Amino acid sequence: MLERGEVANSWRHERWDSLRLLTPNWQSRLPRYRYEGADPDGFMTMAQVVQFISRFAALSGAPVRTHSTVTSVRPTDGGYHVTTQTGELRCRTVVLASGACNVASVPPLHQAVPASIRCVTPLEYRNPGQLPEGGVMIVGASATGVQLADEVHRSGRHVTLSVGEHVRLPRSYRGRDVLWWMDASGVWNQRYDEIDDLARARKLPSPQLVGTPEHVTLDLNALSAQGVELVGRLAAVRDGHALFSGGLRNQFALADLKMDRLLDTFDEWARAETRTSEVGPPERFEPTRVPTSTRLTLDLRSGEIRSISWATGFRPDYRWLDVPVLDRKGTLRHEGGVVDAPGMYAIGLPVLRRRKSSFIHGAEDDARDLVDHLVGYLATTA
Ligand SMILES: Cc1cc2nc3c(=O)[nH]c(=O)nc-3n(C[C@H](O)[C@H](O)[C@H](O)COP(=O)(O)OP(=O)(O)OC[C@H]3O[C@@H](n4cnc5c(N)ncnc54)[C@H](O)[C@@H]3O)c2cc1C
Repeated sequence: MLERGEVANSWRHERWDSLRLLTPNWQSRLPRYRYEGADPDGFMTMAQVVQFISRFAALSGAPVRTHSTVTSVRPTDGGYHVTTQTGELRCRTVVLASGACNVASVPPLHQAVPASIRCVTPLEYRNPGQLPEGGVMIVGASATGVQLADEVHRSGRHVTLSVGEHVRLPRSYRGRDVLWWMDASGVWNQRYDEIDDLARARKLPSPQLVGTPEHVTLDLNALSAQGVELVGRLAAVRDGHALFSGGLRNQFALADLKMDRLLDTFDEWARAETRTSEVGPPERFEPTRVPTSTRLTLDLRSGEIRSISWATGFRPDYRWLDVPVLDRKGTLRHEGGVVDAPGMYAIGLPVLRRRKSSFIHGAEDDARDLVDHLVGYLATTA
């Protein structure tokens, strides 16, 4: 196992200070290993995640070579030639487990942002003290965007949150954590080959969730009630002006509709499985409130906004992969993690084999399936 940094590197070095997992402790599990502490419904801090994963690495005896950045993987006869900063390797199979979130996806329009504005990505952001005094625009309202909007607003800065397509979820539903419902009802286990529009499912934004000791819901209603200003999707930056789409009402209606559909699925499951006595009565939530007026433009040279945080998603970095397995958009071609090259596999990507594939608890089932395939490949090509 080749790791460019240390075990749990992304959790050590690529997350902001206040971040906690949005998945509850009971859900943090890896093969033959699970959270066994006193707070199963709590949410781990980054230090706790590092400890959790480091302990797994030690217990599993995984042969991790740390500080070994892979700089190239290229095909050779019957396998691959791997170049690392510390030496060369030959192998018959390769598993790409280098993460789904190596690079922050920032839209090309960022190039038109005036130089006076400080821009940060979530991989660089640590805490509000890092940002210049003054207004902050956060672009993107998925898990990262809503969490940063909340934290930066609490630091006393005015926050303008640009909202595009998003997935709204309550933290709790019928007395249980919403991720309990995802797990128990089987939604999270749904397989990739049972999903109608897989390409779309793989691009879905992360849900608007935060893990806090108080189990708060952090949706757009909560943010606007605090005083965060909601604007539409950032469509362009022209002559120093940010231009926002006017479709906020539609975005809200769509997210509310999808949330209600998911809650319907949970209700049906609870009825069909006669689990209704374990949970509270069905609930429906206030629709997302549409502001009475929303700005369509913002002058980025006026001084009102001093920094922008691009909470516009992440993508993997495969610049070191010298194997023709990426499509025109740079997306890895694979069938449930079996990459389009002999003996090459991937793990940890969105909806790789199941809806839960890119979460910590998704690794176990995917690893089992892929290792079976890999062992079969080695046996047939021996
Ligand atoms: C902000 C944020 C919050 C998240 N919150 C949650 C959450 O609450 N719950 C949850 O289950 N999941 C969460 N996730 C998803 C989380 O990243 C995954 O669950 C988990 O990290 C996937 O593990 P992984 O090993 O596949 O990827 P990573 O943790 O990204 O690990 C990949 C490793 O590969 C190494 N690497 C990359 N390139 C190279 C190279 N060329 N050579 C050598 N080594 C390399 C990296 O250093 C890294 O250590 C979150 C993700 C982000 C970005």
